[in-house]
Amino acid sequence: MQSEQTDVLVIGAGPAGTVAAALVNKAGFKVKIVEKLKFPRFVIGESLLPRCMESLEEAGLLNKVLEQGFQRKTGAKFVRDGVVCDYSFADQFTKGWDHAYQVTRADFDKALADGVQEQGVEVEYETEVKAIDFKEDGSSVTTVADATGNTKQIAARFIIDGSGYGRVIPRLFGLDKPSNLPPRKAVFVHIKDVKRHMDDEPDRITIVVHKPDVWVWVIPFSTGVTSVGFVGTPSFFDKYTGTLEEQMRGLIADEPYVAQRMEGVEFLWEPKVLQSWSTTTQTFYGKGFILTGNVTEFLDPVFSSGVTLATVSSQLAGNLVIRHLKGENVDWHKEYTEVMMQGVNTFRSYVNGWYDTTLHTIFFAKDQDSNIKRKICSVLAGYVWDLENDYVKYHDTALRKLAKTIHLRDSISYINNGFK
Ligand code: FAD
Repeated sequence: MQSEQTDVLVIGAGPAGTVAAALVNKAGFKVKIVEKLKFPRFVIGESLLPRCMESLEEAGLLNKVLEQGFQRKTGAKFVRDGVVCDYSFADQFTKGWDHAYQVTRADFDKALADGVQEQGVEVEYETEVKAIDFKEDGSSVTTVADATGNTKQIAARFIIDGSGYGRVIPRLFGLDKPSNLPPRKAVFVHIKDVKRHMDDEPDRITIVVHKPDVWVWVIPFSTGVTSVGFVGTPSFFDKYTGTLEEQMRGLIADEPYVAQRMEGVEFLWEPKVLQSWSTTTQTFYGKGFILTGNVTEFLDPVFSSGVTLATVSSQLAGNLVIRHLKGENVDWHKEYTEVMMQGVNTFRSYVNGWYDTTLHTIFFAKDQDSNIKRKICSVLAGYVWDLENDYVKYHDTALRKLAKTIHLRDSISYINNGFK
């Protein structure tokens, strides 16, 4: 069987794989990416966060992204029963990027993969990892197969697994663990957005509360196309029957905020369905490998955290792998798992707060405190490692305390106004 040798083998050419590969390559090590599919390929995850831009910049991939002319994203708008709560990243508490982009992922991921290739990383498409044999010292031999089923072996000093929903290492070594989030389902499509409102869009995404535990994303692209998706409990979708197009048209017709704009518009492809995406793993690293991006844990799409967690984990992992290859001591648990869990758990509190409606109370409250709003805005911008921000540091309690204060204030005002 044919065999090759590299310093670092990266599995997957998504945002996680490409950011990690770029950094390790920049440090002078030989890096190879194997990617199961041919690019461009479809993947969901179209709204980026400002923190993600820092990782792309450090990986030297920012210009490649900017060249694509993606829609600039300056904030996020939440809507419930006609009440709007607008977050502008320019107002955020943490010092950082004040914008990100709304991207068609096929083009974004292709730009990143082309970018690392131009930097000198070999990217081999239609090459799927089938098996990995780790040696005592952490080095490994990976068996890959091409589209015609031909196999070969790649020896590597270290593996970075950025295989996303493919979950290569957790699957091969039985590391998968169920997430503590309940299963959810999404139905989504791209539309020709001929009735787009130009006054407050397209420079932000909109999240519409359809029911307390069902919401809609509206992500406009620079091309005049818009992504729209419904997310909720799987049982919520049961009453929508017929073809996927009929189900999607039924969903749109039932949500007044999107109905006016999207009823009868052209769908660019048959709506897609995804469900039960939250899975985690028993460990984020092992002798000779590290997991980055979705393989570690994907929570929920509501705050667009996926690509940001993918690129930040790869930025961190890439730099730790460089130190390891240089013979330095790395405390993987402290320097990787604990850091990543700080960010993941902050987002987890916000996701839970969204579905138990604590965040609805906060977002749609009257007379919001602008300092608090700036701090919550930083979380929505992906700055979930800024412990100067008490809405990051005390993520598990701060939101509930704030919602309680709002309820109390509303009750007092109700009494003072003679129960009106
Ligand atoms: P991926 O982008 O999945 O890339 C992994 C790559 O690995 C793929 O190209 C795959 O082909 C390859 N691969 C898999 N198996 C193998 C194998 N055996 N051998 C070789 N290659 C392999 N995130 C956001 O940031 N914003 C959003 O608005 C957003 N919306 C979402 C909506 C929904 C409904 C869902 C479910 C997710 C959403 N996400 C969003 C999350 C986003 O999809 C992921 O977090 C993101 O794609 C993770 O990037 P990644 O690089 O880890 O994995």
